[in-house]
Amino acid sequence: MLDILDYLPAKRKVSPSGWISFNAVCCDHNGDSPDRRSRGGIKTNDQGWSYHCFNCGYTASFILGRTVSYKARKLLTWLGVPDREIELANLESLRHRSIHGLLEDRQAADALVQGIEFEEWELPPGAEFLTAEFAVQWEYLQSRCVPSDFPFMVQAQSKRPGVIVPFTYNNKIVGSTVRFLDNYNPRYLNNMQPGYVFGTDLLHNNWTHVIVTEGIFDALSIGGLALMHNTVSDAQAKLIRRLGKEVTVVPDQDSAGVELIDRAVELNWAVSIPAWPADVKDVNDAVKKYGRLGALITIMQARETSKIKIELRKKQLVKRLRN
Ligand SMILES: [Zn+2]
Repeated sequence: MLDILDYLPAKRKVSPSGWISFNAVCCDHNGDSPDRRSRGGIKTNDQGWSYHCFNCGYTASFILGRTVSYKARKLLTWLGVPDREIELANLESLRHRSIHGLLEDRQAADALVQGIEFEEWELPPGAEFLTAEFAVQWEYLQSRCVPSDFPFMVQAQSKRPGVIVPFTYNNKIVGSTVRFLDNYNPRYLNNMQPGYVFGTDLLHNNWTHVIVTEGIFDALSIGGLALMHNTVSDAQAKLIRRLGKEVTVVPDQDSAGVELIDRAVELNWAVSIPAWPADVKDVNDAVKKYGRLGALITIMQARETSKIKIELRKKQLVKRLRN
């Protein structure tokens, strides 16, 4: 089987999360200036690979059992893989084709038909993949219990140390947030399009439920969505509805979170306000304390769909907050 790693440029770095970064090979084919800051990244697993260029924004991926896509073919060609090798890889892949793969293709096509789109946006200048050299950033992410395979980035030249979380939608870069790690304000610098909801690319097609949270680290740690504030805009509500999943809103357990509860009720969504101890204020705190599965259990156990029960839980929360 074709091993894409054999064709990568010799100069490369491996991040602790397994991203291999190197000078991207796509940019000059897409009308951008060539990459000299190792902004191309590839991650492989036993099922295939995915490629992200944080210079020109090109993405491509390959999954065993699928045809080699047009974008993957182009990438392989730019890496210098001969056409014949690509053709053989395609045939070999199709031998692994499964019903599951067919179903997923169908769902991906459906998602496109639904037609919510965002513009491709640039990452902050100088953004590069987070590698082990950035110990402060790496330790911070571990302390927040977020998945290590997410393509976090850093700005090495920035005066303030921080972590960049790229916003993706249908695997395109459509914005980002920077979480600064010094003690100055603002702690976050958001670069977000109206109506965007973070985390749709983290969801698996076969999940029937989706957890809606306020903050980016809540979403990353539980595998849910982040609104990035304490309300839901109409455009965000539309996007979340189109996912076709059972929605559970988990507000932060503070006075701002109370507002989100009212909005969720208005949208007819389920709300979960677990009776967490005082040191657990949001989903991310819960994941840090109980682990991802443990936190999920507390959320699903406290899930309420009836407006009366949600109202009751809200009153209990308000009372807890006053004490
Ligand atoms: Zn590129």
